[in-house]
Amino acid sequence: MNTTHAYAALDATSKLVPFELQRRALRDHDVQMDVLFCGVCHSDLHTARNEWKNTVYPAVPGHEIVGRVTAVGPQVSKYAVGDLVGVGCLVDSCRTCPSCKEGLEQYCEVGFVGTYNGADRETGENTYGGYSTALVVDEAFVLTVPENLDPAGVAPLLCAGITTYSPLRQWGAGPGRKVGIVGLGGLGHMGVKLAHAMGAHVVLFTTSASKIEDAKRLGADEVVISKNADEMEAHTNSFDLIVNTVAAQHDLNPFINLLKRDGTMTLVGAPEHDHPSPQVFNLIMKRRRLAGSLIGGIAETQEMLDFCGKHGITSDIEMIPMHKINDAYERMLKSDVKYRFVIDIDSMRK
Ligand code: NAP
Ligand code: ZN
Ligand code: ZN
Repeated sequence: MNTTHAYAALDATSKLVPFELQRRALRDHDVQMDVLFCGVCHSDLHTARNEWKNTVYPAVPGHEIVGRVTAVGPQVSKYAVGDLVGVGCLVDSCRTCPSCKEGLEQYCEVGFVGTYNGADRETGENTYGGYSTALVVDEAFVLTVPENLDPAGVAPLLCAGITTYSPLRQWGAGPGRKVGIVGLGGLGHMGVKLAHAMGAHVVLFTTSASKIEDAKRLGADEVVISKNADEMEAHTNSFDLIVNTVAAQHDLNPFINLLKRDGTMTLVGAPEHDHPSPQVFNLIMKRRRLAGSLIGGIAETQEMLDFCGKHGITSDIEMIPMHKINDAYERMLKSDVKYRFVIDIDSMRK
């Protein structure tokens, strides 16, 4: 196999550095692709720095991948050389447990195989993600990219898009429903666009006053500065659903107070340190629910991509060459990105 150029974290404290790896020889159902674009998710940073305490080094992050098929295994039927394809957070699962059978591979009961920092089901080897020039993935975990969308702007849909689409669908975002999105980062800005396209009344909660105009442009009907108690109180008992994308530990109570009776706040942000447990009475007095949601299954990811194709939705991106990744991580920590970094993988081929 050809040598694949990549960037890797070698330990939890140093910067990402150039790294070479070998992709596996094609199995019967494998699709090989040249990676074109890869989004930069906050989960990449959590993993590179071992904030979730499960990182296997070297770690090659990247699970918002758009590529062009360059070869296929003998049994592949869904894809052909030249196809524009996507790969998200999952590259395999057991395929037989109840969750897999329902198309919820992200909840595979024996554990899904992550696109990076996962263990290959045949060899046990650590998986390497999309901060790399080439990728080999089983066709069952490869997505079709709508032809009408800008491929660079599609890349973040593969994680930020599906991670917000799935809870919006699960908890019924749509006309007549008031939906809050907390945090205007990579996930949050997709949540705003998607909830707006689904027809919900969308309220964006941010800690950054500088993002108000952007949030409205992206589709928010209202914007609330979450640090401002008066602004928060004005929305008490009014939300059907709040999707919380915040990447840092914070107090959940001020948001739970905004839910209607039977309203739900779904956590998708996955901070290094847990949030303090919220007040019990705030939940029981109004039968409110606090929930969680993990990315989305393959079928729902394709549904989300098709929805975005139909509605002309892509991510707002800032393109970077691979060697700028360490700066990008520092800027992401300062919420200084509008609204997703995407790596131009060609920068590693030059
Ligand atoms: P991001 O681009 O860094 O956005 C996070 C946003 O959270 C920031 O833009 C900021 O928004 C807000 N924020 C950051 N620090 C804050 C603080 N201390 N207090 C309040 N708000 C703060 O990150 P992302 O890529 O969207 O990812 C968000 C989180 O979701 C990460 O933890 C990531 O690992 C997780 N994630 C989970 C899943 C899943 O399946 N559940 C999938 C992907 C990612 P404002 O400036 O608007 O306040
Ligand atoms: Zn992600
Ligand atoms: Zn399974």
